[in-house]
Amino acid sequence: MYEYHTHTTNSPDSRVKMHEYCERAIAIGIEEIAFTDHIDHDPADRSRGHNNYPAYMADIATCREQYGDRLTILSAAEVDWNRATAPEVRAYLADKPFDFIICSVHWINGEYLGERARKHPSIEVYRHYLDEIEALVTTEDFFHVIGHFDLGKRYDTVNGRIDLEHNRIQLGRIFDAMAAHGKGFDLNTSAVRTAAREPMPGPDILRLFRTHGGQHATIGSDTHVLNTVGTNIDVAVQTLREATWTTASHIENGRLVAVPLEQVAESVRLASPALT
Ligand SMILES: [Zn+2]
Ligand SMILES: [Zn+2]
Repeated sequence: MYEYHTHTTNSPDSRVKMHEYCERAIAIGIEEIAFTDHIDHDPADRSRGHNNYPAYMADIATCREQYGDRLTILSAAEVDWNRATAPEVRAYLADKPFDFIICSVHWINGEYLGERARKHPSIEVYRHYLDEIEALVTTEDFFHVIGHFDLGKRYDTVNGRIDLEHNRIQLGRIFDAMAAHGKGFDLNTSAVRTAAREPMPGPDILRLFRTHGGQHATIGSDTHVLNTVGTNIDVAVQTLREATWTTASHIENGRLVAVPLEQVAESVRLASPALT
């Protein structure tokens, strides 16, 4: 079982130490974990400039030493991006290698996407967002997967959904570019724990991505607290199946590699008793 979206004390919004996650992960049968702490540059974000790479890498080194025989530990990040912060993001990442990077667009003109979903109709919420995503997938190559693609859904189950009909042409261009460059989705189970009750993205978007040649989705809980690490990975597997996918992906030698769902599901089944 892989858990590819977690936040530790190296993120300003989590108080869980990396080693606490490692112990819990081993106890519930997680074999591989990516610590995707935030790297934020948007001026509207209170977490801007918080990332401390040396401190983060010191935690990674300590945990690898202590748990590396039982748990594969990936150095990783959830990097916030938009066209305004792109130069700063590029400069920051230039001398900081990571095993795995999620890129998320959280901010549109200084407004958090989740807040926008509470205030505006879907078409308005996602118009600017999809422009940013399209710019990302056509100009940047620093990331492996796009974070919580329909993030608005976590905050509003109506306006937060992407209107697939209205946005079909632009989504087609985005998914073509993602597929051509081997990019995937962060299949993010945090919205399963909200009224949306499904991962981000859901089966419709996963199916559409597939028809454009998309092949990769990593699975992660986006946990900020200890007891949700590894949760709902079974739901993510089920969602992939519903969308006719037969694989989920993880990182091997710096690249996304697809693994049969049976393999992922088997380890989820073994881990479930401890997940209650
Ligand atoms: Zn995020
Ligand atoms: Zn996150």
